[in-house]
Amino acid sequence: MMISVEEARTRILGHFDILDPEFKSILDAQGQVLAEDMIGPFDLPPLDNSAMDGYAIISGDARGASEYKPVTLRVVGSLAAGQVPTKNVVHGTAIRIMTGAPIPDGADAVVPFENTDEMDRKSSGRELSEIDVRTEVPASANIRLAGQDVEKGDRVIPKGTILGAAEIGVLASLGYEHVNVFRRPVVSIIATGNELLGIGGEPEVGKIYDSNSYSLAAAVKKSGGVPRLVGIARDDVDDLSNKLEAGLLSDILLTSAGVSKGDYDIVKDVLADHGQIDLWSVRMRPAKPLAFGMLDLNKSAPVPHLGLPGNPVSALVGFEQFGRPAIRKMMGHKKLDRPTIWATLEDAIYNYDNRKVFARAVVKKREGRYFVNLTGNQSSNILTSMIRANGLAICPEDIAVKEPGQLVEVQMLDWPEEVF
Ligand code: AMP
Ligand code: MG
Repeated sequence: MMISVEEARTRILGHFDILDPEFKSILDAQGQVLAEDMIGPFDLPPLDNSAMDGYAIISGDARGASEYKPVTLRVVGSLAAGQVPTKNVVHGTAIRIMTGAPIPDGADAVVPFENTDEMDRKSSGRELSEIDVRTEVPASANIRLAGQDVEKGDRVIPKGTILGAAEIGVLASLGYEHVNVFRRPVVSIIATGNELLGIGGEPEVGKIYDSNSYSLAAAVKKSGGVPRLVGIARDDVDDLSNKLEAGLLSDILLTSAGVSKGDYDIVKDVLADHGQIDLWSVRMRPAKPLAFGMLDLNKSAPVPHLGLPGNPVSALVGFEQFGRPAIRKMMGHKKLDRPTIWATLEDAIYNYDNRKVFARAVVKKREGRYFVNLTGNQSSNILTSMIRANGLAICPEDIAVKEPGQLVEVQMLDWPEEVF
């Protein structure tokens, strides 16, 4: 059956749901999506406190103070961050106070050291039992009010937020050690083909190393999933069935190769025996042959299976369009797709047969505008052409050629979706 990229995507994503939450330490939860609203359990800061190193005073006492006519106050104590005030500030007195220390009763402002003669007294060895205030200070100057950052009961971080450095810091500031986030999907990966060797094996004539397992595992990891390499399945029914069974302990199973029209492509036959499977020709280049279905070996819970093509570029591009959004959906992300930009094409993209072309491309910015070049040979076996690519430049199905100078839409492979 021949279907469009959009239709394949819609059909595939319809089979995925958000996974259950897991309760884990805030640092381990980085990059995951919050599964509950996080409420402020107390005010933050908990008490009114000083924003500066200085002296807590009654602002009225400094009225009229200047460099030439300072006001002298008696220093009756000192407070470091973490200490609790035991003395009050009364008229004519001050308490030396450090940033973060609670404001003592009576005081309504903090005058910073640099607006007093603190430095002069220190360098001349004079006592700090008195201090000269050299400026006026308005009421509440340099005081951080309790609850200014978070008020008790506030919904500080809503469900659905992706946890990054700031969110993790805020959670810590509220005393949360663990948090409920949607689980990362476990993604089993099986390579298929008699020609494949595991890396580490002795080279053999006619054989190639399995690269798809590794490129897919890396792409899965980058997408937020947990890859599980099952290994290489030979093109025979028993071996493939065993490997598929091993792949069922996961949230999604990826296979590569065996979905095209070759003689030894038995993947599709085995799959048909073990669940419901759809084989599609997707109107895209690369990655036209694609399989998707629910695998139900031994009556376990059915596991979604995405059968990617064998050619290394096709496997990655197919994963990018269909596997990655499925992983993100399971993780609870709202934005499933890469951001796209429009850039000026500097090479041509040819479309021979009404497929949506994803050309490996390098996007560069010059004088504030984006330009895009292709990375060279676009054959689907040329994996090195993906190395330089930071985007996939798109030629739509119904356009025969995108000429140099035209604008093209580019899926940005190294930009986070949160950008837009
Ligand atoms: P197939 O889909 O089985 O016809 O494979 C298409 C092409 O991809 C063939 O040239 C395979 O040798 C190659 N291929 C299949 N699987 C892998 C793999 N895991 N690593 C590298 N190349 C592969
Ligand atoms: Mg094969």
